[in-house]
Amino acid sequence: MSKDPIDRTGLKRRFWEKKPLTELSEQEWEALCDGCGKCCLNKLEDEDTGEVALTRVACRLLDDSTCRCAQYDIRHHFIPECIVLKPDNLDTHAYWMPQTCAYRLLWEGKPLYDWHPLISGTAESVHEAGVSVRDMTVSEFETPIEEWEDHIIEEPI
Ligand code: SF4
Ligand code: SF4
Repeated sequence: MSKDPIDRTGLKRRFWEKKPLTELSEQEWEALCDGCGKCCLNKLEDEDTGEVALTRVACRLLDDSTCRCAQYDIRHHFIPECIVLKPDNLDTHAYWMPQTCAYRLLWEGKPLYDWHPLISGTAESVHEAGVSVRDMTVSEFETPIEEWEDHIIEEPI
């Protein structure tokens, strides 16, 4: 089994059910990320309807074997526009976030799925459930923006 790239050690069992998002510690907040990598796929937004289409074209920093950002701690040096998700900006971002994203689910008052690593106890469960982007992306470098429409996909859920 591969090591969980996110530090989920020492956390209280089901802490997310016991306190609001605004009261989570930094470690608890980061541990909510299931590691699916779906938020790191480029999207196309229709300016008129606001409809968001997901593509398989990944941000240049996404490693699609681990589904993690290759430079998470210093990513803003390379991708200044990468969003820092927080409890107080979830309302402005939830509409484009993946349907299975733990932050979106909790913001919508829904429970986490059983495959979430905080419940299953292993980071592999998100990949085994088929809800991550593992091995399914194409590179931003090799895919000009005019071709992104050819790479629109349904969210794996
Ligand atoms: S979509 Fe949500 S749960 Fe998945 S990697 Fe992004 S922040 Fe984490
Ligand atoms: S910079 Fe990292 S965290 Fe931000 S979208 Fe790209 S891969 Fe994801």
